[in-house]
Amino acid sequence: MTLAACLVCEGPYGPSTIPGLVRCRQCGFVSADLQISQDELAELYSHRYFAGEEYRDYVAERALLERQFRARLARLRRFVPSPGSKRLFEIGAAYGFFLSVARDVFERVEGIDIAADAAAMARESFGLPVATGDFLDHRVDGFVDVVCLWDTIEHLVRPDMYIKKAAAILEPGGVLALTTGDIESLMARMRGANWRQIHPPTHLHYFSRATLARLLERFGFRIKYVRHEGMTRSVDTMAYILLTIKRQQHGLYRVLKGAHLLDWNVRLNLRDILFLVAERR
Ligand SMILES: [Zn+2]
Repeated sequence: MTLAACLVCEGPYGPSTIPGLVRCRQCGFVSADLQISQDELAELYSHRYFAGEEYRDYVAERALLERQFRARLARLRRFVPSPGSKRLFEIGAAYGFFLSVARDVFERVEGIDIAADAAAMARESFGLPVATGDFLDHRVDGFVDVVCLWDTIEHLVRPDMYIKKAAAILEPGGVLALTTGDIESLMARMRGANWRQIHPPTHLHYFSRATLARLLERFGFRIKYVRHEGMTRSVDTMAYILLTIKRQQHGLYRVLKGAHLLDWNVRLNLRDILFLVAERR
């Protein structure tokens, strides 16, 4: 990734207060200051990504993730009348957990993911049409009514190209829905370089309400809804990340887990994840 110019407004990048990141001098868009090849990107999203690295054990957390996806689906449906006759496409579909709940509601669902193992599982275990590959190279026949990118846009080398292509495959009046971290949130500003969303090279871009709106409007979208999203989190996973990944306290984690002190979930809204819905003009 050569960041000659800001992907949102084409302005010049300058330094960020956070090491390893750069910030557009014109619109404030924040990106990772690094170059990454397509091969390196594919390697990042091998099976290890979803088990142990960024996600502790994505498959084992299926029930929790499905609950989160049902909440997203309910919110999305407010902007999609008669979904029973509509077609939904998900970019970054992973194992297909969202599509597996969305297919109960939509006439047709499909998706794509760069992670080959995850997409294969979506196809084989759930019978979902999830292609392996890059959306930019993927041929979509006809037009779709809804495009979703859940926690995906921050991972893309060229989010501007994906938004442009999403606009091209959407019917006029169709809806794009996404979630991503909010770099302008109070939590992000307080935590600085320690904000949990800051981890290049998987997170390459850091949006705010303003930079997301600007990017979407540039490609013919009108913003209909932006709110901070709450999440159901597993205490076990939070303890695992804190104790074993960040602090190397494997023994303490095992003791707490063995005593069943981690077997519960909490509903949290840290007000640092944006849920956005935009309409294709
Ligand atoms: Zn900019």
